[in-house]
Amino acid sequence: MKLNPEKYDREITLLCPVCGNSEMEHDVDSEIVKCIGCGKELVCDELIQENGVSVDSYVNEVKEELTKDIQKQFNDMLKKAFKGSKNIRIK
Ligand SMILES: [Zn+2]
Repeated sequence: MKLNPEKYDREITLLCPVCGNSEMEHDVDSEIVKCIGCGKELVCDELIQENGVSVDSYVNEVKEELTKDIQKQFNDMLKKAFKGSKNIRIK
């Protein structure tokens, strides 16, 4: 089952907490999703909660990417600022 909340720019795949299957049946009229792999029935909210760990790690992943980008820009800025100086070396 795919989740695509507005605050994330990618889809998150929700997996069955019992068998790890990502294929789910979902009735339009109900909040219940049913795992095709093992038949486990869960409320949508439950499924999202059961997948809380992977959602968290996704957020951390994005944070790391952002930090790397910022560090790279900062390093470039420092290199430019100290260009020509023989005493200061930036790794
Ligand atoms: Zn299952």
